[in-house]
Amino acid sequence: MFESLTEKLGNALRNLRGVGKLTEENMAEALKEVRTALLSADVHFKVVREFVDRVQEKCVGQEVLKGVSPGQQIVKIINDELVRLLGEGTTDLSGARPLKILMVGLHGSGKTTSTAKLGKLLKKRGYRPFVAACDIYRPAAIDQLEILAKQEELGFYADRASKDVPAIGTAALAAAKEATADAILFDTAGRLQIDHDLIEEVKKLRERIQPDEVFLVADGALGQEAVNVAKAFNDALQLTGLILTKMDGDARGGAALSIKTITGVPIKFVGTGEKTADFDTFYPDRLASRILGMGDVVSLVERAQENIDQKEAEKMAEKLRKADFNLEDFLAQMQQIKKMGSMQSIIGMMPGMSGMQLPEGADKQMARTEAIIKSMTIQERRKPELLNGSRRKRIADGSGVKIVEVNQLMKQFTQMQQMMKMFKGSGAKKMMRQMEA
Ligand code: GDP
Repeated sequence: MFESLTEKLGNALRNLRGVGKLTEENMAEALKEVRTALLSADVHFKVVREFVDRVQEKCVGQEVLKGVSPGQQIVKIINDELVRLLGEGTTDLSGARPLKILMVGLHGSGKTTSTAKLGKLLKKRGYRPFVAACDIYRPAAIDQLEILAKQEELGFYADRASKDVPAIGTAALAAAKEATADAILFDTAGRLQIDHDLIEEVKKLRERIQPDEVFLVADGALGQEAVNVAKAFNDALQLTGLILTKMDGDARGGAALSIKTITGVPIKFVGTGEKTADFDTFYPDRLASRILGMGDVVSLVERAQENIDQKEAEKMAEKLRKADFNLEDFLAQMQQIKKMGSMQSIIGMMPGMSGMQLPEGADKQMARTEAIIKSMTIQERRKPELLNGSRRKRIADGSGVKIVEVNQLMKQFTQMQQMMKMFKGSGAKKMMRQMEA
């Protein structure tokens, strides 16, 4: 997310870092680059103009503080202005219980996926969520929601025979009440484009169910187009919030940076991958920090807390300390990490690494490693030294990989074990001494 913007802003500001004093000249140069960086990230030109003007104004009036370089001061100013653009303050959900959320959006924007992701997140926050399928045109969309609801253990309602959307809404409310749910998410039908019929249908449903929140799910990868879509939906439906999806990959970020200013509607959540864990509450200050290449450690820790079993983690740490770590533990560890979401979305939160793009198949590689270990017997996992040639061949066949991959994994694992043994007890000191020598 925002890799290229981060890199370009970094370049613009790097040149200022060394200078002792801000002059009109060096500032103008840097601001020109900031402007270009924002425009090429597909930020709306009006938003860019206003942004640069404000930064300039603040820089000029700024006293040079002792102990802070002019470059750092500018970073702070840009950071504050980014936060302002993204929508100041954290905007959370309505406190109503039951909480009724109407999800709208175009086809393929990620609406159904986001409905399940939001359900999962609400569950983590202590709600008893319930999802209702209100798409009467695409049976496949209903199936998709049902599968996701099952997977995340959310309540679910659909009436495949009905074509009356408001009636489905009423029935879903009753079913949710029956199930003692206190958060109900309505997944509505999408269209290829925003059109009159779609809006009328959603309006009728809204009238009937009286939602506390109306969220538009918009594809962030579309850049300015997402902003236009949001504007049109907001004019017709008065949205209460936005969910920007597909902010992983090569999303240039323009949508996130322009959408609040242009539509006045705050972004509430962002989708950062296909897995249901790839979903974050939107915090303007954290994202600004990320855009400036400073990572987002707070969100990383939160994801870990939400998805990783604390007891399990402590057990692992103890095993690592004792260098008593076998392949069974390795597998368990990998499964924990996977729960936090895709590797790319995790890397993006680390300071200094937000611009790093993982090789295409990083998640697939992890899945292969997992398959290899799963093809071993429990005994082999516990005692990897049992793995002779014929056993390795069997494992390779069983997991559908080549035998060299099994050998590679075993080599890596052996190296890891050796490292752990070195760190054990006074080993760490010994290693430091070796490294100093
Ligand atoms: P809908 O037609 O709006 O309901 O869209 P879906 O929920 O079916 O999503 C369309 C596609 O986008 C699916 O392949 C999803 O897996 C994918 N998708 C949804 N959200 C994200 C996201 O945040 N990141 C990525 N990379 N893919 C997403």
